[in-house]
Amino acid sequence: MIKKVKNAFLKLLIKIDNGFLCDVCRLNHPSTCAHPERPNSKKCNDFEHKSLR
Ligand code: SF4
Repeated sequence: MIKKVKNAFLKLLIKIDNGFLCDVCRLNHPSTCAHPERPNSKKCNDFEHKSLR
């Protein structure tokens, strides 16, 4: 629950900045993310901030 709230908050901060979620997503690698939008995704349900585990 807290992880989801933190993730949503971090997404909001990124949107205020440059908007590219992939830049700070821990899944930003061809072997872990198959989304065609990578690395320039601005909207993604699988986003996980690098700082979250
Ligand atoms: S999961 Fe989403 S935000 Fe993360 S790298 Fe893939 S497309 Fe980008």
